Amino acid sequence: MDIRKIYEDAGALLSGHFLLSSGNHSPNYLQSAKVLEDPKKGELLAKELAKLIQSANIKVDTVCAPALGGVIAGYELARALGVRSIFVERKEGVMQLRRGFEVKKGEKVLICEDIITTGGSALEAAKIMQKMGAEVVAFAALANRGFCKRFGNNKEPKKECKLPADIPFFALADFEFDIYPPSNCPLCKEGIPAIKPGSRGNN
Ligand code: ZN
Repeated sequence: MDIRKIYEDAGALLSGHFLLSSGNHSPNYLQSAKVLEDPKKGELLAKELAKLIQSANIKVDTVCAPALGGVIAGYELARALGVRSIFVERKEGVMQLRRGFEVKKGEKVLICEDIITTGGSALEAAKIMQKMGAEVVAFAALANRGFCKRFGNNKEPKKECKLPADIPFFALADFEFDIYPPSNCPLCKEGIPAIKPGSRGNN
């Protein structure tokens, strides 16, 4: 399956000149929500991800997603795996399990995101699950931005990766983009204005 083409066709892989939340500039931006606006694509991608997880013999009782970004991917992955789907969400900046969701001691939980960049939110979700006595058996995302090492790829993680090295991370593809500091950005030098994703309602 050509994941990159699926993202491109859905208009989820943007090209231009983007101002990232880190303050750096990039010629590309990934918008997974655009892929998931087609439920059939969401189902297809989640099935592929489920196959990877099952082929590694990872047993999962529950998929937990950090809201908002991970919810749709997590729900579709749970459907593909035939397991329970829950999510954690931020309230006043703190990630929490709400809405009557519960996890049992020893429950095998997989943390699912749409995109993993450094994995910060996924790690916060994992810590909540572990605090409640669950066992975090894996991380998963449709797309990996190339900072973390995904299962089956030998590329070592970058120092920015926050995911623990002893828990496998499954993703369908790596999307590595050039990143420039604003002081040394070739797109800025060409005089192309930088767009902050979201400033035109596209975030
Ligand atoms: Zn620039």
